[in-house]
Amino acid sequence: MDFRYIKKISCTVIWWTILLIPLSYPIRSQELKISLYNDHNIRSVVLTVSEGEYEILVNDSLLLNGWNSGALFVRRMEDKLLIRDRYRGFGIFDKVELRGIMPDNSFYIRPVSPGLEEREYDGNLLLKTDLERLLILNITGMENYIAGVVQTEGGEGNLPEYYKTQAIICRTYTFGHIQRHEGEGFNLCDGVHCQAYKGRCSHESIIYSGTIQTSDLVIIDQDSTLITAAFHSNCGGMTASSKSVWLSDKPYLQPVRDPFCTNHKNSIWQFKISLDDWLNYLIRNGVAGERINSRELSFRQDVRKEYYIVSGVKIPFSKIREDWNLRSSFFDIGISGTEVILEGRGYGHGVGLCQEGAMEMAQSGKNYNTIITFYYRGVSVVEYSTLGNLSGER
Ligand SMILES: [Zn+2]
Ligand SMILES: [Zn+2]
Repeated sequence: MDFRYIKKISCTVIWWTILLIPLSYPIRSQELKISLYNDHNIRSVVLTVSEGEYEILVNDSLLLNGWNSGALFVRRMEDKLLIRDRYRGFGIFDKVELRGIMPDNSFYIRPVSPGLEEREYDGNLLLKTDLERLLILNITGMENYIAGVVQTEGGEGNLPEYYKTQAIICRTYTFGHIQRHEGEGFNLCDGVHCQAYKGRCSHESIIYSGTIQTSDLVIIDQDSTLITAAFHSNCGGMTASSKSVWLSDKPYLQPVRDPFCTNHKNSIWQFKISLDDWLNYLIRNGVAGERINSRELSFRQDVRKEYYIVSGVKIPFSKIREDWNLRSSFFDIGISGTEVILEGRGYGHGVGLCQEGAMEMAQSGKNYNTIITFYYRGVSVVEYSTLGNLSGER
């Protein structure tokens, strides 16, 4: 399914909607279905209203109108849902929907079995069963979702240009993966498999205003294709190429020297391994034990290197990082007595945008366009709705 095509079809509908609503009413952009608590097998939840009012529909029929107080309990019973409030049972149904009827509507949801943290979301909610699980779908506008993701993934206490940058990255990912869970009946999940989305973002926050101010903006490469907008916590002074980490070479994911992140908390680390463990590790990776010369073990990476080479055997630094659960693949190796000391830089895979560097760039007055084109070379920030014109039917 091509969502841009749908977007064109729905333009007429949206235009009529704009004409029929007061101008102060916020215009909702494309709606998304996001599966909540997707990494858990939820059996029952309790719902309450945070803001606005809802109508509650069961099997597409109205059950309650103007619901704005009290709790609603929903429990999965095999492939059906049992619904009740504090005082009475309403019956057993195939699906339940909460549809907001005020300009702004948000609700709280708390899984009871298993017991998990309560979260608050904007928009509507659809509950139904799918094979052996309860599907909990938040139906909300694109920008509400993006702001929620930026809040979850972007941390607190940063400047507007940083949040705008993160919003554009998250939006680029969202449009690029909007069909990722199509076979399951929703767009994206709320886990790290897609983008972590652990609740709504207050509409008064700078994260929300940064999201709205960059509404519809995405990042494209020189072929007018949405980029893989990879990011990580700290590059340690130099980003990595996508080829060295994922074997997929992208012209905009190439090493960039980054002077902005090197004073941040994740810029350096140290890890110690006993010399015996290190030698055994090398032997397991194909280095002939009798040929290992301890003088060869030391290694410096002034710029990022792809391979650690010992006795002619090449071991990718990305593999060493994974095998030893290291903070990054950007480290020197030194020998001290019976210990091997890894002196490392950065945190994360190192590909694409460095978050701590981007925070620093925002601090020094750089705008989102400068930040994005610094880390992703040769890209452009454009409105998604103009992409059809740029790239034709794809
Ligand atoms: Zn997912
Ligand atoms: Zn960096």
